[in-house]
Amino acid sequence: MEPFNEEYIKMYFYENRLKTFEGWPFDEDCTCTPENMAKAGFIHTPSENSPDIAMCFFCLKELEGWEPEDDPEKEHKSHSSSCHFISLKKKVEELTVEEFFKLQKERHKFIINKSCNEAITKFEDAAKLRRAEIIKTAMGEE
Ligand SMILES: [Zn+2]
Repeated sequence: MEPFNEEYIKMYFYENRLKTFEGWPFDEDCTCTPENMAKAGFIHTPSENSPDIAMCFFCLKELEGWEPEDDPEKEHKSHSSSCHFISLKKKVEELTVEEFFKLQKERHKFIINKSCNEAITKFEDAAKLRRAEIIKTAMGEE
């Protein structure tokens, strides 16, 4: 699901985040249960090779390689200390409209940041490839 999508707003709510953790590899006798993951703002975003990727719906920080004893809240704070959601003092349901819009503005900054970084990486990869092609052509002509 694209973070800019309107539907994504529902990820502000714990129950909706929890629903994404179907097939999460950690369930019993561990700290990173689906409940604790969802409480800490994570949604489950598995890929074909990594079933344990989780991403904060707010700051879009992705974490994988979870260990059963990992505390989702602590992990979130230590890997993304600027996330507004994890340091929120109130429940989402208790926010005023103004507070909510402020929060949304901050979330958009994270989204823009991430998509810019992805575009830069894509460009750099393309440039690297092109450079290699040019060198190859130049060498071949010698
Ligand atoms: Zn976050």
